[in-house]
Amino acid sequence: MENHEAPSHFIRNIVMEDLREGRVKEVVTRFPPEPNGYLHIGHAKSIVLNFELADEFKGRTNLRFDDTNPHKEDVEYVESIKEDVRWLGYEWDGLFFASDYFEEMYRRAVLLIKKGLAYVDDQSAEEIRKTRGTLTEPGKESPYRNRSVAENLDLFERMRKGEFKDGEKVLRAKIDMASPNLNMRDPVLYRILHATHHRTGDRWCIYPMYDFAHPLGDAIEGVTHSLCTLEFEDHRPLYDWVIRECEMENVPRQYEFARLNLTDTVMSKRKLKLLVDHGFVEGWDDPRMPTLSGLRRRGYTPEAIRAFAREIGVAKSNSVVDVRMLEHFVREDLKLKVPRMMAVLRPLKLVITNYPEGQVEWLDIENNAENPEMGERKIPFSRELYIEEEDFMENPPAKYHRLYPGNEVRLKNAYFVKCDDLVKDETGRVVEIHCTYDPETKSGSGFTGRKVKGTIHWVEATHAVPAEFRLYEPLLLNEKETDEEEEGKERSFLEQVNPNSLEILRGFVEPSLKEAKPGDSFQFLRHGYFHVDPKLTIGEKPVFNRIVSLKSSFEVKKES
Ligand code: ATP
Ligand code: MG
Repeated sequence: MENHEAPSHFIRNIVMEDLREGRVKEVVTRFPPEPNGYLHIGHAKSIVLNFELADEFKGRTNLRFDDTNPHKEDVEYVESIKEDVRWLGYEWDGLFFASDYFEEMYRRAVLLIKKGLAYVDDQSAEEIRKTRGTLTEPGKESPYRNRSVAENLDLFERMRKGEFKDGEKVLRAKIDMASPNLNMRDPVLYRILHATHHRTGDRWCIYPMYDFAHPLGDAIEGVTHSLCTLEFEDHRPLYDWVIRECEMENVPRQYEFARLNLTDTVMSKRKLKLLVDHGFVEGWDDPRMPTLSGLRRRGYTPEAIRAFAREIGVAKSNSVVDVRMLEHFVREDLKLKVPRMMAVLRPLKLVITNYPEGQVEWLDIENNAENPEMGERKIPFSRELYIEEEDFMENPPAKYHRLYPGNEVRLKNAYFVKCDDLVKDETGRVVEIHCTYDPETKSGSGFTGRKVKGTIHWVEATHAVPAEFRLYEPLLLNEKETDEEEEGKERSFLEQVNPNSLEILRGFVEPSLKEAKPGDSFQFLRHGYFHVDPKLTIGEKPVFNRIVSLKSSFEVKKES
């Protein structure tokens, strides 16, 4: 992994203090995804934070699947998550599943019952919600709250045995229905779900809730610093209550940090799944998706994502990060690593009428002008070329310095050409332009006779390799976070989908790109960075995803 300075932030300060004061011997963190979808760039922030924090202090990081909701989870997601974490560059110390601890969690729940700190409630989810109270009003105690320990033990055991239907009973913590913190008003610890779990099969029909399972999982694994996003801040007292009352030996501490939000996209698995299920994208790994598999297929590198994650930092207030910052980091990463080549995305034929028919010159070209170590290649030049449609105009506006009748430009790496004539089809569209070239003006010949104002790129026609180019725009227009509980939110979210997020073009690339392999990346002069799509490229007809264009007005602030 690249050398980098450990970014300083409040959680790192806490860790250093804990080590200094001897409160922890070894730093143990975990990344705890629920296997109910693919990882996105927001998860990358959490992964980089957890793994690098432990690594910096020679500690350990576990990958723990939070698989306590059998309805939504699947092994497909487990596998993709493992692949994505590895791809990002991290190897976990322990691989665990919350479901590994179901037996232990059950025993701890029984302990709570025996201590008079948990009870079986027969109220429906609806009744429980209604009697919870509000921020200004206390909740109402359940009529089942004062069941005897013996009765609770019996009922809980029968819940486990499958004697009751889904929703008929729950196990609740007995804390305080008047607590100012709603999470402390007798939260549900277990619910009944007759569902087949992707790991435990039909062994269980009661499942622990996140607020019960998460602290126990952390304690069982000896996690010292349990890092989660801000929405769990109000759950922290419950987290500590569970650890304490379940008499866990290891006492982990929870710390909350701001979620990553990015402009022009969404960062919720639920919403991303809607895009997949409604066919707005081709799948979780569609190159427009902010998932790690989508970004990978688009051509983003782990190096760029890691650098981005370190740069955005770890703060205690939510904000939206400009997606151009992520783009900045992939440009930075690829700038010196990938060859710079020529590709014509919207081809227009150019014929050099005074160039000998049948002649082909092979020009020596540097692969990357900023990185001589990348060597040279040869590209053909002849009488027939393709140029970009937009590099010619029959009636140009002022300050247009590219080709138009009577104007001369430089063909990048080759000669000056001057436009003499054009050919139109019956609809009046220009289909070919005729030029003459000046053999004196070859690039590198030291010619100083006269200057031209425009330089355009090109691809020699007879050796050109046909290629497909996929250009992407943001997936969403003006995405506003809609209230989760709001009616019709699904529709209003889907209405924000950008109908023009994908443009497919068919053009040509230089012959050396015939050997481009799925997963290779290139800079195409004037167009940006492109990546050979590993799914769509078959045989010698490459499909290039545009990762990012060349220019951006975005500047990453430099800390002094
Ligand atoms: P989503 O809302 O997308 O489903 P989640 O928080 O439910 O996300 P989990 O699989 O439970 O997803 O998350 C695993 C870990 O990743 C958690 O610790 C969570 O806090 C963290 N995480 C998820 N989304 C983000 C984000 N946008 N920024 C930073 N961390 C995140
Ligand atoms: Mg979740």
